[in-house]
Amino acid sequence: MSSIMKGTTDNGPLLPVPDEDGAPFWEFAARGELRVQCCAGCHEPRFPPRPCCPRCQSFDSEWRVTSGRGRIWSFVRPHPPLLPPYAEQAPYNVIVVELADDPRIRLVGNLVAAPDAALDSVDPARLRIGAPVVVAFTELAEGVRVPRWLLERP
Ligand SMILES: [Zn+2]
Repeated sequence: MSSIMKGTTDNGPLLPVPDEDGAPFWEFAARGELRVQCCAGCHEPRFPPRPCCPRCQSFDSEWRVTSGRGRIWSFVRPHPPLLPPYAEQAPYNVIVVELADDPRIRLVGNLVAAPDAALDSVDPARLRIGAPVVVAFTELAEGVRVPRWLLERP
């Protein structure tokens, strides 16, 4: 069974468990592209991915490439108890990013100092609502890359 099917690496970080609607998001992420599902009828973006457009009820969708830029909309600093690979890095940060392309689209992720840096690699004093961020991708397992975020002005 591949690690992506298990949802975790052995004693490693949790991995995405894509469903049918969300699979393209992770396939684009594996190629280093942050894309958002959009309605092919009225072009309304939607996240998380789902089969039907809430605006025009079309079932046709496309995946629009984003600028990869956004702002911190909110954040938390998780403390134990956490799963072992996360407890080792706690306290770290989990941020909610509103995309520059459409601030109604918000993604949850981590702010890091470099794409492959630890989850606690950014000084908590740098966490600020509204701070501009840019997406980066880190490989968690073979063929599995997830979006992370870097401060636009490090
Ligand atoms: Zn629509």
